[in-house]
Amino acid sequence: MKKILVLMLLVFAVFAFSFSAYAETYVVGTSAGFPPFEYVEDGEIVGFDMDLITEIGNRQGFEVEFRDISFDSLIPALTTGSIDIIAAAMTITEERAEVLDFSDPYYSANQAVLVHEDSEEGLTILFGDNDIGVQTGTTGDIWVQDHLVEPGILTGNVRNYDSFVLVIRDLANQNIDGVVLDKPVGETYSQGNPVKVVAEIITGEEYGMAVAQGNDELLEKINAGLEEVREDGTMDELIEKYFE
Ligand code: GLN
Repeated sequence: MKKILVLMLLVFAVFAFSFSAYAETYVVGTSAGFPPFEYVEDGEIVGFDMDLITEIGNRQGFEVEFRDISFDSLIPALTTGSIDIIAAAMTITEERAEVLDFSDPYYSANQAVLVHEDSEEGLTILFGDNDIGVQTGTTGDIWVQDHLVEPGILTGNVRNYDSFVLVIRDLANQNIDGVVLDKPVGETYSQGNPVKVVAEIITGEEYGMAVAQGNDELLEKINAGLEEVREDGTMDELIEKYFE
């Protein structure tokens, strides 16, 4: 009897070991200067997107490992295969969808205009000879180019940064006059920095996770996991944890 028990335990241990050894680990790329979606805390990459993709993985049998890279390097990293998934509050756009595959949308957002907390300017900061900071390659960057620079509404400089952490630092130090970025992130930054949201630009964006084009197997897992996370209340818990 004892022998059988030992044997059963052994079989179980081998099974458990091989199961964990075979659970696929995907490299998730993000740009961790985008709180509360992704940020660095005690040297670790954490946030809404990290929890979300971890929960999806738990339900769909994969593990994740995070890599912090600049936002405009995420798409090249995905197309060259150095990462498997982008989880970076990335807006689903037609241009991006030409080079990668997006999951179902998981969050909606607009753009916002930020100024220094002592500033009396509002939306007008975007007109005339002011310096506006953006994170390179973001929808905020593209919006500023298309709607302000090209029509000649903004005549000052557009300052491009690799990370919003540096954009906000320069705004706090009054090295730039205004910033355009996703509203939920603008609101989060305004809580711990001398900056404030003064206007909203209705862009109606939706965030999706992304995989390399044609990676249907992984995309299906992400979409199925997203649905599970929505249905079992985990999504609501995450929204409460990070936004309320
Ligand atoms: N949602 C914006 C975009 O997709 C900004 C994302 C980000 O900076 N992480 O361009």
